Amino acid sequence: MEKTFSFTYQSLVLDDLPKADGDLCRMALQTTHGSYAPYSQFEVGAALRLSNGETVTGANQENASYPCGTCAERTALNYARTVWPDVNIEAIAVAAMQQDTVTGTPPYPCGLCRQSLAEVEHRQGTPIRVMLVAADEVLVFSSAECLLPLAFHSTDGHF
Ligand SMILES: [Zn+2]
Repeated sequence: MEKTFSFTYQSLVLDDLPKADGDLCRMALQTTHGSYAPYSQFEVGAALRLSNGETVTGANQENASYPCGTCAERTALNYARTVWPDVNIEAIAVAAMQQDTVTGTPPYPCGLCRQSLAEVEHRQGTPIRVMLVAADEVLVFSSAECLLPLAFHSTDGHF
């Protein structure tokens, strides 16, 4: 038996997004200034919109001992889940800068961040809209699940 997984996503221009989404993307761009990335020179900002109206941001924080570093997405995600553990995350916007310029390629989240987003989405039971901001387009995914098909689930049923 052959099975297929597919999804549809959008490529939009920042100014054509609904206002709340456009604002979140601009906040992600602004948050890149909070990055500490002396090793990669890849400054990433993430902004989350919560269902209680709060916005949470995070930037990547690197370390000379590379594995200690944390991505922007998980910095924001873990903060949101710490302060508002019972509040759903509606959307995340991610942007990256290199040499003071918005990257031409969308900042696709790494595997760890995709797994983190997938688990939070599963736990809260509602989709997280993902927006990846590049210089000339914003890719919009209706759910974090699109970014990690067949995500890891523990066998104890918690995820
Ligand atoms: Zn990551």
